[in-house]
Amino acid sequence: MEKIVVADIGASNVRIALATKDGILRKIKEKTKSDRASLLKQIARLADFISGDEKPECLIAACAGNLDVKKGKIVSPPNLACKRIPIVKYLSKCLNIPVYLVNDCNAAVLGEKFFGMGKDLENIVYVTLSTGIGGGAIVNNNLLLGKDGNATEIGHTTIDERGRLKCGCGKRGHWEAYCSGKNLMHFLELWFRENRGVPVPAKYKSVEKLFLLAKSGDKISLEFLNEVGRLNAIGIANIINVFDPELITLGGALALNNKEQIIHPIKKHLRNYIFNRVPRIAITPLGEDITLYGAIAYYFGFSNKKRVI
Ligand SMILES: [Zn+2]
Repeated sequence: MEKIVVADIGASNVRIALATKDGILRKIKEKTKSDRASLLKQIARLADFISGDEKPECLIAACAGNLDVKKGKIVSPPNLACKRIPIVKYLSKCLNIPVYLVNDCNAAVLGEKFFGMGKDLENIVYVTLSTGIGGGAIVNNNLLLGKDGNATEIGHTTIDERGRLKCGCGKRGHWEAYCSGKNLMHFLELWFRENRGVPVPAKYKSVEKLFLLAKSGDKISLEFLNEVGRLNAIGIANIINVFDPELITLGGALALNNKEQIIHPIKKHLRNYIFNRVPRIAITPLGEDITLYGAIAYYFGFSNKKRVI
């Protein structure tokens, strides 16, 4: 059976697996290296290790945008420490197999379609609430890719026209600048200043502590997460109004580790912002491996007849 290597290059972790069209055979995870040369070497080393004695057909590299998929380059992702990474050229030379680059969330939504909750559906959106915020959309059974492969970069849509917080991409007011794992504490500082006129008390000073307090019923953290949910609902409503999906699944560490605290406030506020009929909204059953499954689906094609690449 045809075997491939799939890689999920995230801001925090690199995940690499050997896979067939039926799923993952074996996988490995490491903290993401921060400089360009070390990151490329890391991916090559892990791909070589995971392949063992097998000779894989190709490597599918899924990475957060923005990308230039035609040139095979990672351009300037806000949450990776390095930029302009010629990943396809380097890895194909190094591993001597074809290498393809895809946006991680565009791959992930294919994972949901093939291996997750979207099997019988033609209109699905996946949203990751992780270090950053990203999205992927299948509309009328077509995966949306865009001119450079950066379609559905939903985290960089504006949800605060006043632009109070600056995003990692350099622009102001983007959804990711408020509700992503990397920026949630910046939003908490802003929220404390605006609503309480004081700096953030020490007991709230990490994402983990904030959610732990919310889970134990702490009123202030619940009040703040209600506001986070309102902003998430604006982002999700924009998706619903633009793509009219039947299903939206949420993933990424923030959503996977705090299911109720993330999804409940979104559902509460959503009706204030939507025009189209409400779709099903759920946490992905594929967990942190959804992008790896997506990369598998990306290679083997989502119609069984037509390959995406
Ligand atoms: Zn941005």
